[in-house]
Amino acid sequence: LSPFTQRDYSDAAKRAIARAPALFIDNAWVASTHGATIPIIDPSNAREIGRFVDASDADVDRAVAAARRAFDDGRWTTLRPLDRERCIHRLADLIEAHADEFSELEAIDNGMPKGMAAAADIPSAIDMLRYMAGWATKISSETTLPASLPVGAYHAYVRREAVGVAALIAPWNFPLVMATLKIAPALAAGCTVVLKPAEQTSLTALRLGDLIAEAGFPAGVVNIVTGNGHTAGARLTTHPDVDKIAFTGSTEIGKVINRAATDTLKHVTLELGGKSPVVILPDADLEAAGAGAAGAIFFNAGQICVAGSRIYAHRDVFDRVLEQVSEQAAFWSPRASLDPAGHMGPVVSQDQFERVMAYIDDGKKAGASVAIGGGSLGSEGYYIEPTVLVDVKPQMRVVQEEIFGPVVVAQRFDDLDEVARQANDSAFGLGASIWTKDLSAMHRLAGKIKAGTVWGNCHSVIDPAMPFGGYKQSGLGREHGRPGVEAYTELKSVIVQL
Ligand code: NAD
Repeated sequence: LSPFTQRDYSDAAKRAIARAPALFIDNAWVASTHGATIPIIDPSNAREIGRFVDASDADVDRAVAAARRAFDDGRWTTLRPLDRERCIHRLADLIEAHADEFSELEAIDNGMPKGMAAAADIPSAIDMLRYMAGWATKISSETTLPASLPVGAYHAYVRREAVGVAALIAPWNFPLVMATLKIAPALAAGCTVVLKPAEQTSLTALRLGDLIAEAGFPAGVVNIVTGNGHTAGARLTTHPDVDKIAFTGSTEIGKVINRAATDTLKHVTLELGGKSPVVILPDADLEAAGAGAAGAIFFNAGQICVAGSRIYAHRDVFDRVLEQVSEQAAFWSPRASLDPAGHMGPVVSQDQFERVMAYIDDGKKAGASVAIGGGSLGSEGYYIEPTVLVDVKPQMRVVQEEIFGPVVVAQRFDDLDEVARQANDSAFGLGASIWTKDLSAMHRLAGKIKAGTVWGNCHSVIDPAMPFGGYKQSGLGREHGRPGVEAYTELKSVIVQL
């Protein structure tokens, strides 16, 4: 088989694809009110393999009404927190029991290697559910003594309550991870939800629907609607019965959503794009740094919000870093997503393929040189070579804009202050990694770089307990950890005269 030939699907995957065109509302699979659908494309061979529903306004309204009813009648919020915790754990157990099927569906839908989905994605989705399940019994608020009222004359306390109906809008790059990352804290906080996965990759979210019912969630607590962003997504962001929007996606759409949600003043959290720097100091373990820099950009074909898409290597080690990254390129050479030998797959879609290739072209036209890769591969499917661009200038689009593909720009620096300035010369501020054995330099730089997460001698290490989000135009608010759960709550002060 050529590395670009997709393998046959399992029977379980075929079943999941065949039943995809349906919506999950009130714990039941329902048909859309209209016939519009969206093709499901396997990026490994660009073939259409099925259809998703493109939800109508009436479909979205029906899902929101189900979530609203389930929230307002207290069937979820008034359950014992231990019972809510148990439901979320059961969902994690069920995903674990079907991990192989989830990995395959993710590979077919998104193009990520099935082995990578099985080793990284599905386990991290499960970890997030388990971590957040524990918060159901630990959400708390402070009770402070009123400052201006006579002591003993009033009983005052603060309640932390679920915010209500949360609309969860997810991107296509890690479909199940993105869905569970939002479902888990929302449910732990006591919200009911409507999940809208990305129109390119809704297979695993839909499969989740079966497991939601099996895990014992009451009807209406989790609803799943597939559809396009500018229709189904937009309907959610303006719907008067939605109290909170949690969005992960591009900065451009994040701004659209924030504006749309303003009319009804919904709570909004936004996890957006990035252009994360990888800073390699002259004393770094260059073998580890080179492999780390390659992994930071080629993992999931660069379609990761924290992708290390700008390498800054100290002038003395720049050439050796480049050599190390080149040596890694063969390891990351793309293959069809069900090929067990693959570490990187195709990019997700024709649009994304064209966008990434256009960026490579634009970089070349602006004067950048291609040090590694630069081309596409295969006759069908969306395969792009791991690519490194050098001779770039700070203001080039390839340096400033998020490409979201396996393309990194590499630049030199001379001292720490200079590299801190370069690292911060970006509209984004999501992640950054620093590679060095010099702990003082590490922590000095960690303080200077404006990013929601700074890694030392590693990159893209993400943990459910560590707050995650962006500075600047990389987002609003934080997910994961206590702030991640509290983002689905409201505070209420109760002041009673005794
Ligand atoms: P996208 O912004 O195009 O779409 C994301 C989601 O928003 C999809 O479900 C889409 O249907 C929906 N959407 C689109 N238009 C909408 C509208 N007007 N109203 C409501 N919903 C709408 O992003 P994408 O291309 O799917 O994902 C890639 C982007 O996501 C990249 O920029 C990446 O950096 C970002 N991302 C960020 C994080 C993070 O945590 N910061 C994580 C993953 C991806």
